[in-house]
Amino acid sequence: MASAPRVRFAPSPTGYLHIGGARTALFNYLYARRFGGTFILRIEDTDQERSTEASLQAILDGLKWLDIGWDEGPEKGGPYPPYFQTQRLDTYRQHAEQLIAAGKAYRCYCTPEEIKERRARAEKEAGVTGVYKYEGTCRDRKDVPAGQHSVVRFKMPSQEGSVSFDDFVLGKITKEYSDLDDWVMLRADGIPLYNFGCVIDDHLMDISLVARGQEHVNSTFPQLMLYQAFGWEPPRFAHLPLILGPDREKLSKRKHKEADVMLHKANGILPEALLNFVIRLGWSHGNDEVISRQQMIEWFDFKDVGSTSGVWNPEKLLWLNQHYLKTLPASDIAARLAPFLAEQGSPLPAQDPRLEHIVVAFRERAKTLVEMAAMAVPYLKQGVAIDEKAAAKHLTADSLKLVRQVRDDAAALPEWTVPALDTVIKTVSERAGVGMGKVAQPVRVAITGNTTSPGIGETLLLVGKDEALRRLDAALARG
Ligand code: GLU
Repeated sequence: MASAPRVRFAPSPTGYLHIGGARTALFNYLYARRFGGTFILRIEDTDQERSTEASLQAILDGLKWLDIGWDEGPEKGGPYPPYFQTQRLDTYRQHAEQLIAAGKAYRCYCTPEEIKERRARAEKEAGVTGVYKYEGTCRDRKDVPAGQHSVVRFKMPSQEGSVSFDDFVLGKITKEYSDLDDWVMLRADGIPLYNFGCVIDDHLMDISLVARGQEHVNSTFPQLMLYQAFGWEPPRFAHLPLILGPDREKLSKRKHKEADVMLHKANGILPEALLNFVIRLGWSHGNDEVISRQQMIEWFDFKDVGSTSGVWNPEKLLWLNQHYLKTLPASDIAARLAPFLAEQGSPLPAQDPRLEHIVVAFRERAKTLVEMAAMAVPYLKQGVAIDEKAAAKHLTADSLKLVRQVRDDAAALPEWTVPALDTVIKTVSERAGVGMGKVAQPVRVAITGNTTSPGIGETLLLVGKDEALRRLDAALARG
């Protein structure tokens, strides 16, 4: 490819952004970024019954959440507008007319009922579905009353021949003309069918490489016939391998809830983790598992996409998520944690330093933001339910004396920090001539209600001074 690549993601807004779509978008985006190209978002909204504004919004939201930014398309514009197919109907009509005039397409007046009947008959005779090919009834039809509605069909060459392409992923693939029929390009109401709209737009938008899911391999042949008929140079193609669910069935919206990109957001998965997970579905760079965005851009190429299906591994997603929880700046994670705390009934103001303390305290154990919030909630509520077994063991009269000293020393601290609070525990234990655990454990039970929590200084800080003192007082009142 001599000039900078132009690649595109062309979703149909008939549902939320699914993982397969996100992968197609990501691969195209990375390719454009790596080779200084342009990534175009085109909305294929010609299925007017199933396309909705809500789905469009969901797709844009999904891409934005994953930070897969497009250079041209909705909300951005660009040099080849409009980027919605339903706003390009004149263009399709003109191109259809052009092919009709050149004798490479024709109007077909067979009614949908007739076609349906013929299809049913052909399938019954063959005993299998999908065998029907249009007979060419209207190819040379002259007896047409003006004004009658018609679809426009592509005229397959009548001589023998074949059409091939060299796929980035699948290698060379060929189809005989005889396997293709005179397919419909334009419906009677002027709406293009997928193969037609797609080719017109890919050509006019100067797309140099088309990367999409493997379910579109067979569409590539009629599409190539169209490039040929117009005398246009076709783009390169890369058909991405299937993605299988954890049950090794093709990942589908119907069967797999994990196919929904935004479900992962709700589950407390970070977009960095999901992207890292998705890039490994069909593409690899040696044995690398953790791949930063920077590395993705440096390394990605369609020639490294394999043809073996990518399989969904839920543990790997959680593992990656925890990796990013642990390695991204705590302040960054804190901001993303806030809505999860609110959702679980313990909202904290955006500037509250405890948000960051929670991240530091729990990121070694929490695999998602949902889990992290759940671990933190008991620290943020007012009051605590004390486990009586823990109290019997640790809140004895003797140990409460130590708790009293911790309470008073901590209350007197000018500022609550982890080292200062740890020092309080240390000082009290030294004064009493006992191990630090003998002091920390009763305090822990008083603060958390049981015997496990992060480090004692961290625990006190998480609960916050006012509430921690209240909890210590409540424990002391038991004595
Ligand atoms: N609108 C098609 C889809 O969502 C696009 C396929 C293509 O990329 O050509 O499947």
